Order: sequence, then C-alpha cells, then structure tokens
Amino acid sequence: MQNPSKHRLGVFGGTFNPIHLGHLLIAQDAIDAFELTSILFMPCATPPHKQKSSLIPARHRLAMVEAAIEADINFEPSDLEIQRGGVSYSYVTMSEIRQLHPDTDILFIIGSDSLCELHLWKNIYKLLDICELVIIERPGYERKTIDPASILLDPPWPDKLLANIVSRHPVGISSTDVRYRIAEGMCIRHLVPRAVEVYIAEHRLYRPFRSE
Ligand code: ATP
Repeated sequence: MQNPSKHRLGVFGGTFNPIHLGHLLIAQDAIDAFELTSILFMPCATPPHKQKSSLIPARHRLAMVEAAIEADINFEPSDLEIQRGGVSYSYVTMSEIRQLHPDTDILFIIGSDSLCELHLWKNIYKLLDICELVIIERPGYERKTIDPASILLDPPWPDKLLANIVSRHPVGISSTDVRYRIAEGMCIRHLVPRAVEVYIAEHRLYRPFRSE
C-alpha cells in the first residue's frame, strides 16, 4: 500500500500513430496495479527506434490523444516532447519531468515488447535511476516466454524489470494494424475510441495516396 498523500505520476510515452483502445486499457491497468494518481499521455515528436514512413504529423497524433482521453480525469495529454521537437529520448523527457515534480513518484509505462530493446535506449541506466518502469504484458511478449538473458542490461535490471510486468487485460491491438486496416478500407470500429475514428475519417488520415 502506497502513502496515499504522495502523488504517483505515470508517464505513458508513445508514437500514438494513432492512439488505440489497447493504450487506454493498459494505462488503466497501470493505474490499478501501481496505485498511480494520474497518467500523462505523451506523444513523441520523432521516435528514435521506429520507421518514419508511416508517421503522420505530431499535431494530428496529439489531437487524437486529446480526443481519446478527454472524458477521463486521471488521464492528461502532454505536448512536452512535441514542443521540444527533434528525436524524443525518454531519458531527456523524464529528466525534465523529474525537475518539474521533484517530490512526486514518477513511473514510466512501456509494453513488454520494448523490454528486449531497452539496451538501445539513450542513457538507459540514468533513465532507470530517475523513474520506475511499469511494464504491461503485450500478446506475443508474455512474461513466461521472456528469457532474462534476452534483456541485455546489467544485473539486477533484468530480474527487477521482469518483476514489474503487469498482466491484467492483455490486448492484441496495435497502431500498425489500425493503419493497415484503414489503408485496406477495413473497419476500425472498437479498435480506437469513437472520437478517434471520427477524427481519422474527417482528416482522411492513413489512406494510401492515389494519383488520378
Ligand atoms: P506501432 O504498431 O505503430 O508500432 P504501437 O501499437 O506499439 O504502435 P505505440 O504508440 O508505439 O503503439 O506504443 C506506445 C507504448 O505502448 C509502447 O511502449 C508499446 O509497447 C505499448 N503498447 C502499445 N500497444 C500495446 C498493447 N496492445 N499492449 C501492451 N503494450 C502496448
């Protein structure tokens, strides 16, 4: 049981290209499992480790995050990384948040698919010192299938991180699949919040470019 007077802030960074219902469910699971007070949803400017070809402008990704979480008082959008611009490194972001909230517990939320890539993250050991990582189990990357040796970090981090995996509502939704379905003219209903579905349709996002 955490000290109830202490603020525990979750930070959920992502490309959110677009935000989907998996993101919302895992954020709520993180709140419940780690007794978080609130979560900042932080769309990146340029992601360091992803293909850029399918990336739509940050203003659209942020607008969809805002629309998706508007009704939830525990969720808040943040444009910190978008305002900073350039490649968004979590270490830089979390250092800034740590300075802004010196007396707050800060937890950073990631999916379990990111575990085996953490050694590639900029200043990963400093990031691990600044904040606790909450790892949400993603289908295909279940706790029981992850060999600690596949997490290429110094001890005790592999074991420590594996102990922080949460598995409550594993959900097999990805932004890649949502983009694919739109490009193929398929339905995305119930994969993204209704407001996001409407935004995507209004702005004709993720449609393949067709020359006349
Ligand atoms: P893409 O398919 O474009 O790679 P994505 O669905 O992984 O995108 P991101 O915005 O890149 O979405 O994800 C932000 C964070 O949320 C990452 O740490 C990712 O691992 C995690 N995440 C996304 N979807 C899920 C999911 N369904 N289950 C668990 N974690 C997820």
